[in-house]
Amino acid sequence: MSKEKDWREKLFYEQKNGYDLIDADESKLVYAYAEGYKRFMDEARMEREAVRLGIQMAEEQGFQAYEPGMQLKAGDKVYLNNRGKSLILAVIGTEPLSEGAVIAGAHVDSPRLDLKQMPVYEDTEMAYFRTHYYGGIKKYQWVTIPLELHGVVALKNGDVLDVCIGNKPEDPQFVITDLLPHLAADQMKKTMAEGIKGEGLNILIGSVPYADEGKDRVKLAILSLLYDDYGITEEDFLSAELTAVPAFQSRDIGFDRSMIGAYGHDDRVCAYAELRAILDVKKPRRTAVCILADKEEIGSEGVSGMKSRAFDTFMEDLCEQQGVALRRCYEKSFCLSADVCNAYDPIYPEVSEKRSEAKINYGLGICKFTGARGKGGTSDASAEVVAHVRKLFAASGVIWQMCELGKVDQGGGGTIAKFMANRNIDTIDAGVPVLSMHAPFEVVSKLDCWMTYKGVLAAYQE
Ligand code: MN
Ligand code: MN
Repeated sequence: MSKEKDWREKLFYEQKNGYDLIDADESKLVYAYAEGYKRFMDEARMEREAVRLGIQMAEEQGFQAYEPGMQLKAGDKVYLNNRGKSLILAVIGTEPLSEGAVIAGAHVDSPRLDLKQMPVYEDTEMAYFRTHYYGGIKKYQWVTIPLELHGVVALKNGDVLDVCIGNKPEDPQFVITDLLPHLAADQMKKTMAEGIKGEGLNILIGSVPYADEGKDRVKLAILSLLYDDYGITEEDFLSAELTAVPAFQSRDIGFDRSMIGAYGHDDRVCAYAELRAILDVKKPRRTAVCILADKEEIGSEGVSGMKSRAFDTFMEDLCEQQGVALRRCYEKSFCLSADVCNAYDPIYPEVSEKRSEAKINYGLGICKFTGARGKGGTSDASAEVVAHVRKLFAASGVIWQMCELGKVDQGGGGTIAKFMANRNIDTIDAGVPVLSMHAPFEVVSKLDCWMTYKGVLAAYQE
């Protein structure tokens, strides 16, 4: 009997709930870490704000803005602010970059509703903003929830105005209306994809008419308020980047407060883990690099996305100082593509293969591959890379789990992993399991957040 038990223990791979593996001291760390993360989330609602806050946190820990030509030595801490929309931080290692760098890359953009460039209109004496949604959303989730407005207006004279309305208690908020059930018989027969249309995601912004006799009096009244507050006219929206995000503060979820509900866990939960890890890393052997990327939700395109040469230029600068060819650095580098994965949801068991889906409280989720339909579009980390993380995490007490996104042929998704791997960098996906991913209010487990931080730190410390 006991021999059989030994045999089972030796041969079976069985995962355990993280709370059965950590002690009371670590449990305190889990909950304390979550407090810092919630504060970060309430301030960083879009990529520009995450970059700004990231820089502030980094400077407090002695990081300096990188300037080309700056002479760097082991232990030096620098950051590169890429147009205010993505951020790269590095701590120079004691070994040269010919030994490669250890990179963690997360993204700080999240699904949301961007304003169109000609957004303001009036109908039936109510004023609205027209939107064009950003990233993969279920449109029906974005009506009848409070919204905040964030972003910038870039003026012809070169000034850039920051906009942030709705997250202070005294601020007004905004909303997209929906049909009352009494008149929704036809709407309710439509599919969930069609019940709310993209061109119907129009945000209510005002209702009091301007005191004159002309037309569009409410629109005029709203524009006059904006002129008073910001000095902008309707034309200035042409060069604005304004976005409506859910006006939900992050909150503990559950009687046991074991989870966090917030807007934009994908992927600021991993970005925060990386950021904390690079701020905490001490004298790394190989240069530690942390990326907060933009545009992942729309394919990592553009100057601030992970396909951009901005990352290569920065790394090449660091390499050149040491007389190392960038390609030699890349081929020896290792990258954790830190992005969220799906958490198994027992309310929707039909889309998941339970053995392969990440579970809440089972730790950092590692995806060997992502993609869709026969692994299409994934970089698929090698067995050797997986073995490397097994060793790394075992040595550092990181609780982790292997996972996939849904059943075979059920759907799929991607991350920045393939863009890093295409650079000839060994890359694997690692991140926090999320319930209701891409919804206005997503849920993660505090234990998994902490283990993601620990995992990235373990990679940096090797
Ligand atoms: Mn993501
Ligand atoms: Mn996403």
